[in-house]
Amino acid sequence: MILHTIAEVREQIKNWKKEGLTIGLVPTMGALHAGHKSLIEKSVEQCDRTVVSVFVNPIQFCPGEDLDKYPRTLDADNKLCEQVGADIVFAPSPNEMYGEGHIHSNDFLTYVIPPYFYVNKLCGKSRVGHFDGVCTVVNKLFNIVRPDFAFFGQKDAQQLIIIRKMVRDLNIPVEIIPCPIVREPSGLALSSRNKYLTDGAKEDALALSKILFNIKACYDKGITDIESLKDTAFSFLNEHHNLEYLEFLDADTLDEKTVADANTRVFIAVKIGDVRLIDNIML
Ligand code: AMP
Repeated sequence: MILHTIAEVREQIKNWKKEGLTIGLVPTMGALHAGHKSLIEKSVEQCDRTVVSVFVNPIQFCPGEDLDKYPRTLDADNKLCEQVGADIVFAPSPNEMYGEGHIHSNDFLTYVIPPYFYVNKLCGKSRVGHFDGVCTVVNKLFNIVRPDFAFFGQKDAQQLIIIRKMVRDLNIPVEIIPCPIVREPSGLALSSRNKYLTDGAKEDALALSKILFNIKACYDKGITDIESLKDTAFSFLNEHHNLEYLEFLDADTLDEKTVADANTRVFIAVKIGDVRLIDNIML
């Protein structure tokens, strides 16, 4: 069932809560693929009722990013959600979420701002304000759906850590469930933005997972020096790749690692033409 208004969702949730049912929330921006599907399946398995939100959140896009061209495939998304057993697809308009006008202005909108330590690195460095938009919309979704569990992919590991921090800091009564990265057989991490890749660019995109798998293999052989591990990346990069970052951080705190260890997550972002791709791996 697709619902477009907050009032309709609240009504349904109220009834489910009265019945004592547990509720799972899977926040997405739509253009659903097998990565999203794995999150929805996990929620359906674990919770009595599952809500999937499909909302291309304008306030998490920076000026010049792909807000207008972001793929929107609501009919197909709804079919997939029904097949997997989700109960509600919540697909609000920007006006429904933020009111008329002023959408991009924090002069008029109350924002949830995650701590500087967590946003001043990785994607937060180039996407200034992105995580403010993410935390604000996720907090709103939590208040609308009041889920017991919310499911997030490790594909966006920085986002997951920031949301966990928000939930802790603001005492939000929800349990965050991390879900593993789903990849194509080639190793490429699934992403709605893969739709932007031409065949050639898709070939180039394999460099991200190859670099990460190779770093993991070197670490497994006993190399723990981060500079040496970073150096192994360059043989996979060509003139089409614009490496934005390759960083070794603590998987829970995002502290910088001096030596690679079992709680290190390696994060990579590469631009191929206009398309910016991210990936990560645990050592
Ligand atoms: P998005 O629609 O890109 O905002 O993603 C919605 C949720 O799906 C986020 O929690 C993502 O981390 C998760 N997700 C996206 N791609 C993948 C993937 N390949 N594997 C696992 N989770 C994913």
